[in-house]
Amino acid sequence: MKVTFLGTGTSQGIPIIGSTHPVCLSEDSRDKRLRVSILVEWGTHTYVVDCGPDFRQQMLSNNVEKIDGILFTHEHADHTAGLDDIRPFFFRQGDIPVYAHKRVLEGLKRRFDYIFDNENKYPGAPSVQTYEIKNNSPLRLGGIDIIPVNVLHNQLQVFGFRFGDFAYLTDVKRVEEEEIKKLQGLKALVVNALRIDPHPSHFNLEEALAFIERIQPERAYLTHISHLLGFHAEVEKTLPENVFLAYDNLVIDV
Ligand SMILES: [Zn+2]
Repeated sequence: MKVTFLGTGTSQGIPIIGSTHPVCLSEDSRDKRLRVSILVEWGTHTYVVDCGPDFRQQMLSNNVEKIDGILFTHEHADHTAGLDDIRPFFFRQGDIPVYAHKRVLEGLKRRFDYIFDNENKYPGAPSVQTYEIKNNSPLRLGGIDIIPVNVLHNQLQVFGFRFGDFAYLTDVKRVEEEEIKKLQGLKALVVNALRIDPHPSHFNLEEALAFIERIQPERAYLTHISHLLGFHAEVEKTLPENVFLAYDNLVIDV
């Protein structure tokens, strides 16, 4: 399985528009972070997790020619605002499958009514096929089981996903015991680490490292990073041996 980090930044991305913070002015390409998303590929199958405002740019820079579906973690704009840009895939492939919690599907239907509404459809508008994700009911996609993992983003339910020995969790602040059991024996874990200081709805660096220590994956990658975490090159030096800061366009094999 091949995983590409399409974006590793928090909701505003890095650099933030108009910011003069040193991390926003950094010339290290690893300090330039689009909104979080990953591309997961196995065999001939290609799925993306989330579809934020940088989706078009991410598809172009990674030469993605087709997607078999989009899995949504939750409805926040940094994870969903690029949905209109599925148009080129829709024109070539037909309705694009989207997988999400019922609440998230309802939210997307309100925001992108012209995509979900099949009556009086404008000819250029894309269409989707919707599939509800329920906790404790794995999705069977491309011959493998994808296990939803329920996590909490402050009070909001968010889905993480386990694909074989790889798991992707973003926008996490808390994980219940029964969900932690779904994360045993991982070769690679991705989890969010926003910044150094605590935050009400995201793990900070210390909480992310404690969570990794608890889960014990072979290796772990941090994502959903704000400029307040610091420079990539400096933060990475402080991490345990098997923990890495993800960066945009990093590719890992699991
Ligand atoms: Zn987010």
